[in-house]
Amino acid sequence: MKLYNSLTHKTEDFIPNEPGRVSMYTCGPTVYHFAHIGNLRSYIMEDVLEKYLRYTGLEVKRVMNITDVGHLTSDGDTGDDKMLKGAKREHKTVMEIADFYTKAFFADCAKLNIKTPDVVEPATHCIDEFIKVISSLLEKDYAYEAGGNIYFDTSKLDKYYVFGELAEEDLEVGVREGVEEDSNKRNKADFVLWFTKSKFDDQELKWESPWGLGYPGWHIECSCISMKHLGERLDLHCGGIDNQFPHHTNEIAQSEAFLGHKWCNYWFHVHHLNTSDGKMSKSKGEFLTVSLLEEKDYDPLVYRFFCLQSHYRKSLVFSWENLDNAKQAFNKLISRIAALISEKDAAPIDKAAFESIRAGFTAAMDDDINTSNAVTALYDVFKADTNAATKIALIDDYDKVLSLSLTEKARALLDKQEEAKSDIPAEVLELVEQRKAARKEKNFALADELRDKIIALGYTIRETRQGTEISKS
Ligand code: AMP
Ligand code: ZN
Repeated sequence: MKLYNSLTHKTEDFIPNEPGRVSMYTCGPTVYHFAHIGNLRSYIMEDVLEKYLRYTGLEVKRVMNITDVGHLTSDGDTGDDKMLKGAKREHKTVMEIADFYTKAFFADCAKLNIKTPDVVEPATHCIDEFIKVISSLLEKDYAYEAGGNIYFDTSKLDKYYVFGELAEEDLEVGVREGVEEDSNKRNKADFVLWFTKSKFDDQELKWESPWGLGYPGWHIECSCISMKHLGERLDLHCGGIDNQFPHHTNEIAQSEAFLGHKWCNYWFHVHHLNTSDGKMSKSKGEFLTVSLLEEKDYDPLVYRFFCLQSHYRKSLVFSWENLDNAKQAFNKLISRIAALISEKDAAPIDKAAFESIRAGFTAAMDDDINTSNAVTALYDVFKADTNAATKIALIDDYDKVLSLSLTEKARALLDKQEEAKSDIPAEVLELVEQRKAARKEKNFALADELRDKIIALGYTIRETRQGTEISKS
């Protein structure tokens, strides 16, 4: 499998450190508010990546943190504490906010068929680990104390900006908002590992440390939580493109300074979902959540399908019109699968055909998780020269990765159609069957005559590629 590596700017063969096993780390949500569907685009694409790794036979251990302390609105060391902001907004404690929005996040994930990682660890559970790593960085002279805070000294590194030049679009999302000078810093790029004296006098969560009562910076949590559960050498690290700088740049700086060797081999960054007027926001404009999609009568899996239709390394524009197009396409897809299920006879799966058709899907996914081509490969199944059982087996197989609940939804649709049929008089159903037979024999005069009889009984019949629809006129 080939994967684009943000660190080398190359599409490379994905080779884990230990044959057959992958250690995978994902930056989890900051639980101060609901996730917006932009955040969830990142988690959907990371879910597809994880599932495809498993699909190819690799064993994956995936770890995700929950950011419940330390993340400031600038993504750097300035601005307000996001958790505190959430707590004030809702007149609750930080821990109440964290608990509520962590549950809300996983509820959204479940609706989007996003698998929960093997390990989920809140930052506030790992304060001892943070203190241990920060102490070691101080000992090794990679960190210093100034004005009460502990900073990482970026001048001690041969190369700090490891991701190199950022593209214009990436810079736009990577810049720090409203950067204020911090006179304690020896170098502009230095970042806080531990706050003791900070402008947040009302900081709710504080812990004892060798440097006084305080709390950790944001970046240290991912290095420590990853090392705690996945060891010193990480195969794969994921996040949204805005995390590349400063968050991931700082994670690499402190992890490699602590370890004394390379930490993570592959970096997977999902580009942003934007609205037509720019960056997605939780405070400005429409706050796009999974609940809002549901209120507007969109199945959350329509949103997943919408995301899969484009490549993760391209930014994606959200509009209700685009989502409507995805909804129509998705519903049509489910109807076509339902027609296949109805068509299925006793013929067994053709294993040779299965393997040769499946190659189209794996080729797309092996090519840097090209889900857009994988969706095309899914449509190719309908056109393939094989029986219905094989086609259904292929759809189920691809869906292990795409996770769109395809045949499940198709079966539910068939059940609904059956239920609707039970309200239709037997006489009408009989005429419908006769018309089907007449059309099959190309006896169109008879078919027309039968249709007129159906209409006369107060019913309308419509034949589509997806099957026959009967409704009360
Ligand atoms: P946060 O909860 O702010 O820590 O972000 C959670 C994840 O969502 C991170 O991986 C971010 O990089 C990612 N993210 C933030 N905004 C967007 C967006 N508009 N589109 C895609 N991913 C995003
Ligand atoms: Zn992180």
